[in-house]
Amino acid sequence: MSAGPAEADWAAALAAVRGIPADARILLVCHVNPDGDALGSMLGFGLGLRRLGLRRVRATFPGPPEVPETLRGLPGEELLVPATDADPDPNLVVCFDAASESRLGELVDRLVTADIALVLDHHASNTRFGAVNLVDPRAAATSVIVDELLTRLGVPLDAEIAECLYVALSTDTGSFRFEATTPAVHRLAARLIATGIRPGEISRRIYDTRPFGAVRLFGEVLGRARLEPAAAAGRGMVWTYATLDDLVRHGQRPCVLEALIDSVRCTAEADVSCVAKQTSRDEWAVSLRSKGAVDVSRVAVALGGGGHRFAAGFTGRGAVEQMVDGVRAELDAALLDSEPGRP
Ligand code: 5GP
Ligand code: MN
Repeated sequence: MSAGPAEADWAAALAAVRGIPADARILLVCHVNPDGDALGSMLGFGLGLRRLGLRRVRATFPGPPEVPETLRGLPGEELLVPATDADPDPNLVVCFDAASESRLGELVDRLVTADIALVLDHHASNTRFGAVNLVDPRAAATSVIVDELLTRLGVPLDAEIAECLYVALSTDTGSFRFEATTPAVHRLAARLIATGIRPGEISRRIYDTRPFGAVRLFGEVLGRARLEPAAAAGRGMVWTYATLDDLVRHGQRPCVLEALIDSVRCTAEADVSCVAKQTSRDEWAVSLRSKGAVDVSRVAVALGGGGHRFAAGFTGRGAVEQMVDGVRAELDAALLDSEPGRP
């Protein structure tokens, strides 16, 4: 796996932030359908910039300006503006947790209209689309890079910044369960918790709270899950889908489905899990996970998406069965490529 930012990259990032006047217009952007890492990293950094005396900091993301229920109430939320109100030509644009320009949706033009574009990310597939790129594929979350940049900028860690970075770190490590949970991750978590934030309260809010309608919806959607032991060259795949109609019947918003994959991927008999969430008549947001046998980012990239080795996604089109056919085929291709000796 490639190394993190070089000293020259850190120096360039520091220069970009330190050289900016207090009234400069700064726009922070994270990826479409923001998750805990995207929002937490962005708002934590935004609060840090405010502590440096930068007054005109705004944060946004493409698409509808709706923050998922579980991520509401984060410190720094007041920095958020809808994408339609985002500064058209900011002095500085900073992008968070986006592996490529396409993840910035309609805000992609800011990469050219801004005086300078800074990219903070931890995806191995990051295309280095900024003028300055702080990309570290070894980092468990983008918030690890934010923490380092804030430290280098001399911003003292406080409870508000810490809460944002903790939410980001916790969500991207699957609540400190994934392989990326290194000693360094726990050392960062310790520093964040030492500011006085309440990890129990935060975890309950982001993982263990959902409307009763969503509990019933999950029941129905999990009830139709299918196990295919032969898929992925015998490693097994489990998959299910949720339609817009399912959401309507249970009175739920799409963001409640973000947690669905976690209830599917626990299946003992399958290495790979797949959840398709309908987003329009024939379009699906597809999530893929692997327990380690398959690099699902290769599958996602082959199908027009991206992500990490063991957590990836793409936008699928057409009927759900057809789309899953595509996933099966790419799983086999990914396994054949990685193990040419296998039949
Ligand atoms: P999730 O399944 O939680 O939505 O996404 C898992 C990971 O896959 C994300 O961290 C992100 O990196 C990636 N991902 C999900 N959907 C897409 C997509 O449509 N395009 C790209 N490029 N990456 C995606
Ligand atoms: Mn992330």
